[in-house]
Amino acid sequence: MRIILLGPPGVGKGTQAANIVERYGIPHISTGDILRANIKEGTELGKTAKEYMDKGLLVPDEIVVSIVQDRLTKDDCKEGFLLDGFPRTVEQAEALDKALDEMGIKLDKVVNIQADKEVLIERIVGRRICRSCGATYHIKNNPPKVEGICDKCGGELYQREDDTVETVATRIQVYLEQTQPLIDFYRQKGLILDVDGTQPIEEVFNTIVKAIE
Ligand code: ADP
Ligand code: AMP
Repeated sequence: MRIILLGPPGVGKGTQAANIVERYGIPHISTGDILRANIKEGTELGKTAKEYMDKGLLVPDEIVVSIVQDRLTKDDCKEGFLLDGFPRTVEQAEALDKALDEMGIKLDKVVNIQADKEVLIERIVGRRICRSCGATYHIKNNPPKVEGICDKCGGELYQREDDTVETVATRIQVYLEQTQPLIDFYRQKGLILDVDGTQPIEEVFNTIVKAIE
């Protein structure tokens, strides 16, 4: 199973990704997570990426393309993978096409999750993430049993630095200008599955599973 999760920031890609990779036993490749791990480790790549991420802008194509190209050659990607937050520009999508062609593999589906701007803002501002295991919560929609503590591992929950009202507006604008054109790009290839992201988490998951099985 080779899947891309496409959609604006905060629509629920990471949340669905966690459920999908658990069900199908494929690796979850989130460029956002990989960049944040680099920032945490203080790598040069992390330092460069942080300058863009803090402003809500996209990290340059050559950086993310090379991260993904590398990751796709790892053994655990042989039986499939789920890309979350990549590609985000037509240039990235073309680079991915080329890399997959060279590997002799094809995408199965591009899941296009959608919701209105108001929903996205409310979801992003209320998002909390576990410092230890990366599980995602929402203070209202998907709260942990104990405030500030991860249900799964007991880790501390935190708010992403770029999950502020100010940065969200830029991130949504960047999505509309640079990422939304990918819907047409993949629709022309017959790969798009449109999913209403305003449904409850379980229903979004059931819709995706029904369509890909
Ligand atoms: P993305 O990866 O697309 O940026 P996330 O999966 O991190 O989005 O979800 C953003 C926020 O919205 C999180 O706080 C998450 O708990 C919440 N969320 C995700 N899916 C839903 C949903 N279907 N209904 C309500 N809240 C949701
Ligand atoms: P995400 O975790 O997907 O919300 O991504 C957080 C931030 O990381 C984005 O706002 C971008 O700055 C950067 N980023 C993640 N994925 C990409 C990508 N494919 N291309 C460019 N920048 C990215």
